[in-house]
Amino acid sequence: MINGIDGVKNIVASAKQRNENVGLVPTMGGLHEGHLSLIRRADNENEKVIVTVFVNPKQFGPEEDLDRYPRDLDRDMSLADEAGADVVFAPDANVIYPEGFSTYVNVEGLTDLLCGASRPGHFRGVITVCVKLFSIVRADRTYFGEKDAQQLRIIKRVVRDLNIPIEVVACPIIREPDGLAMSSRNVYLSPEQREGAVCLYNALLKAESLYDSGTRESGTIIREIEAVISGVPEAEIDYISIVDNDS
Ligand code: AMP
Repeated sequence: MINGIDGVKNIVASAKQRNENVGLVPTMGGLHEGHLSLIRRADNENEKVIVTVFVNPKQFGPEEDLDRYPRDLDRDMSLADEAGADVVFAPDANVIYPEGFSTYVNVEGLTDLLCGASRPGHFRGVITVCVKLFSIVRADRTYFGEKDAQQLRIIKRVVRDLNIPIEVVACPIIREPDGLAMSSRNVYLSPEQREGAVCLYNALLKAESLYDSGTRESGTIIREIEAVISGVPEAEIDYISIVDNDS
């Protein structure tokens, strides 16, 4: 495990000297099969794989779960290692954000919609830390999950807009056997909530089947999604949107 910026830079520099490709997998830890699928893919496609474990304070709102976010670095290191990581970079917050830190990167427009509307500042924090990680690690490729679809879209945009020399690789969603997308935050769910949470996947399946059978009116699909989710007492709808993937 490396927690200093120079340490990780040195490893990348010597990999580059050997003409090796470097893959970067940014995470907040609490690793599960979703993260491990990204690491395995990075391992297949690059000689050197750097996994970052950093619970980024700048992407949490004041009322969010920064303090109780699942942290277990020893476990994360052994899982990352088994999946093919060469280095786990786990810096402290004051290494990434030293005293006087005052530069932020934002993507206008895309960050205001969907999850951005209910989590002001969240994507600005995500983008800022990712740009820092890209600039520290200088990887050839970086791996992001389609589970966080808006985040993936935004990262692709920032890389394009700022000409950051890195390829953003999108990886499919890994799900629990019943269909719930794996997430470090699933541990917060009570047994009842965990059972009900699969309504999200069921709602997506419903939408897909409507689309496949020819429905093209988004309002109709949205109403059906709403009906599936409303059937679960503990589920509260934040938003349902059908949007253009690029914009
Ligand atoms: P996180 O630790 O939640 O910030 O996630 C780190 C990376 O893993 C992000 O690119 C996520 O999209 C990705 N990821 C998290 N859960 C999954 C999943 N179930 N399937 C695929 N990718 C995932």
